[in-house]
Amino acid sequence: MPAQISCLKGAEMNHIESIENAYLEVENGLIKAFGEMQNCPIYSGEIIDGTNKWVMPGFVDSHTHMVFAAPRHNEYVMRLQGKTYEDIAAEGGGILNSAKSLQNTSEDNLYSMAYAYAHNAMACGTSAFEIKSGYGLSTDAEIKMLRVIKRLKENLPITVKATFLGAHAIPAEYKQNRQGYIDLIINEMLPIIAKENLADFIDVFCDSGFYTVDETNCILDAGLKVGLRPKIHGNELGLTGGVQVAVAHNALSVDHLEHISEVEIDCLLKSNTMPVILPGSSFFLKIPYSPARQMIDAGLPVAIASDFNPGSSPHYNLWFTMSLACLYNKMLPKEAFNAATINAATALDISDTHGSITNGKKACLQITRAFEDINEMPYWFGQNHTEKLLVG
Ligand SMILES: [Zn+2]
Repeated sequence: MPAQISCLKGAEMNHIESIENAYLEVENGLIKAFGEMQNCPIYSGEIIDGTNKWVMPGFVDSHTHMVFAAPRHNEYVMRLQGKTYEDIAAEGGGILNSAKSLQNTSEDNLYSMAYAYAHNAMACGTSAFEIKSGYGLSTDAEIKMLRVIKRLKENLPITVKATFLGAHAIPAEYKQNRQGYIDLIINEMLPIIAKENLADFIDVFCDSGFYTVDETNCILDAGLKVGLRPKIHGNELGLTGGVQVAVAHNALSVDHLEHISEVEIDCLLKSNTMPVILPGSSFFLKIPYSPARQMIDAGLPVAIASDFNPGSSPHYNLWFTMSLACLYNKMLPKEAFNAATINAATALDISDTHGSITNGKKACLQITRAFEDINEMPYWFGQNHTEKLLVG
């Protein structure tokens, strides 16, 4: 794949170049060369034999909530008994439940739990993550989450990007004073984040029952002033203007998109904003799946992400996300693979270093088990096909 391609759009998404019986040379952590085995240079370093295996770029997971205090299996059982995600949120469950437990958990404990999850995800081939705050919902707890993410950045061998999602929900104590909480985000949290360099991006849950378009506008403007490019949660629960507000702020991505019409598709076509779909949360919440087929047919790029979180998507295996994307978002296997690699890297602004096997990019590679055909990858659903993740 030529280095200048940063993402694949429309019909380009159903294309993967591959070489049978190939070599790949890594030097100083970067991909130096690759090609047919007959052209392999004489090499004196460590050799890893991949006979009968596939060597692929590591996955990029551009949307996770990996730092959390506790799983929410009680709510899972409530949903099995007939309650909706909205019912549970109205009773103080959902994000507010996660916020309560996170506020009472130490930074060290949060760090060790997230560190373990990160390794589980790496074992499934993920070579770069985005991690959001948003289960703090107070200055102290949001900053605590971002410091945990900073420690993960420093100690994990892979690339981690931090997103500030103080506007994930309205805390119960601000229910009658929404502006008071927004002021807290803008005037108290953002200055600390900027000063300590705790985030790369800013996110707002712009949807019905969460933040309005006007509130989102204000928060994103304030984030841009301190250099945080937006990545938006939008259009999960309805056609609520999330796409338009994301595009107006030149967001890196707009994520969820279970509800999208021709108007939103048109808006995205005229933008540099990556649509990111999250099939895991549609599967787990039994809500509609994003119409990725329609988006790709219209010429858009699409990325997929796990949305790993304790409430709506407790999974981090992007092989499974690919299977869901094929079965329910009507994507083809090659499209799903590109959506989890090069397009996901674009959604995280790391496509110059990640997401494809390209000379000069970071050597973030996975060796998978033997497949006869690339279409088998999502066909064997619910499995981990990664045998080895190589970073550098
Ligand atoms: Zn999310």
